Amino acid sequence: MKKKTRLIILGGGISGLSLAWKLSQQSQNEILLLEKEERVGGLMGSWESMPFFFERGPRMFQEGRSKALLELIHELGLTNEIIYADKAAQGRHILYKQKLHKFPSNPFAFLFSPLTRPLLLALFTEWKRAPAREEESIWDFAVRRFNQKTAERMFDPLVVGIYAGDMKRLSMSACFPHVKRWEEEHGSLTRAFFSKKKKAPSTLFSLRGGSEQLLETLREKLKGKILHGQSVQSLHTSSNGITIITTEGQWQADRVFSALPPYELCKLLSLQMNFPTRDIATVNIGFHSPVLTKKGFGYLVPAHANEDVFGVIFDSNLFPQQNRSVEETRLTVMLSPGGSEEKRALNALERHLHIHKKPDFVGVTKIARGLPQYELGHASRIQALQHAAHAFSPHLHLVGNYLSGASVNDAIATSKQMAANLFGVR
Ligand SMILES: Cc1cc2nc3c(=O)[nH]c(=O)nc-3n(C[C@H](O)[C@H](O)[C@H](O)COP(=O)(O)OP(=O)(O)OC[C@H]3O[C@@H](n4cnc5c(N)ncnc54)[C@H](O)[C@@H]3O)c2cc1C
Repeated sequence: MKKKTRLIILGGGISGLSLAWKLSQQSQNEILLLEKEERVGGLMGSWESMPFFFERGPRMFQEGRSKALLELIHELGLTNEIIYADKAAQGRHILYKQKLHKFPSNPFAFLFSPLTRPLLLALFTEWKRAPAREEESIWDFAVRRFNQKTAERMFDPLVVGIYAGDMKRLSMSACFPHVKRWEEEHGSLTRAFFSKKKKAPSTLFSLRGGSEQLLETLREKLKGKILHGQSVQSLHTSSNGITIITTEGQWQADRVFSALPPYELCKLLSLQMNFPTRDIATVNIGFHSPVLTKKGFGYLVPAHANEDVFGVIFDSNLFPQQNRSVEETRLTVMLSPGGSEEKRALNALERHLHIHKKPDFVGVTKIARGLPQYELGHASRIQALQHAAHAFSPHLHLVGNYLSGASVNDAIATSKQMAANLFGVR
């Protein structure tokens, strides 16, 4: 009988789990996933046995940009568990001059909103501006194509919402490759907008049981293939593959897949490379009564507002299907960790939303190095890491959300691509 190929995956975040799922579909593979924690999911996870349902990390996905995630959901038999964002939660707000402004959703509102007025002026000349050949920051891109005010009022909050990062350091082509492509293909974003087929706006979705439902199902399906409490300490090449030393033992693999954060992998390969990341804290706040007067999905805070928070999600508006009572209000404040997160979050709710009531639940999650920053030079940093990994061993492969997209869907797509390239798994 032909010996099975032993594949070991390091790290049980969604990158590692989705890769394990894909690879386990081929019977010639023997799969083992090593995770240092007692739970899987990494950055993903929900508060389960609390008076309110809350996500600690990722909570929403855009239907039009989630092909790999939706495929995984279908494969796991969870299609009927998909829930869509409430229609009333479509509006987004941006904090501008200490007040919340609804992001305009029609041309008339575009004319009158202080957020978009500077964009209208720039549209008359945007189509004439030449594309840049060199890699540039998001700030430089937005100022070159539009103007400084558009960069500050429209691009900045968007960047804060996804990366909680500095748009003067983040790379446009690495963070928003599709927008960069529009510029390259059409010469201008205005032209790209008018020549593209108009699709219905992309809806946000989640699962009824949140991210924990996805993780729980993966854990069930991968039963016997996951080992917990295995913090990987070192990797060694051997004549027949790679030896992995963890805090609990030693493992031999024909191929190893790192689904670890890049700084962990660098430690294992003794590489002095710097992969910039951002720390973030989420403060989940629940009230047993309706305290929110604003409609919509939440608000974002541009970096230049010099505020303490990155944004607030109105969870109970967004996915009322996850509310446990009709009256309740669930809010999540995102901010940088650094002490008194609860106090700072409640203070923001008082100032921006005029909520003065004492909450019935507060849960703080601090995530060190949780958000990869795709800064200028990202592509060459990744290439250097891939080279170093290959030089260590051609049987070491990399997946993760720091490679080609920071979202859950991107992480799954990267793992899926790996399984397809190496083993032809679709
Ligand atoms: C606050 C927040 C909100 C977000 N919101 C969204 C959202 O709404 N939508 C969206 O699409 N994305 C969102 N994201 C991004 C999303 O969470 C990530 O892209 C995704 O979870 C990354 O998964 P991963 O498996 O690549 O990494 P991770 O989740 O970091 O997994 C790495 C795993 O490796 C393990 N590990 C580390 N070191 C070792 C070691 N030495 N040995 C063994 N195991 C080890 C860790 O314990 C962990 O389980 C959000 C991120 C954050 C932080």
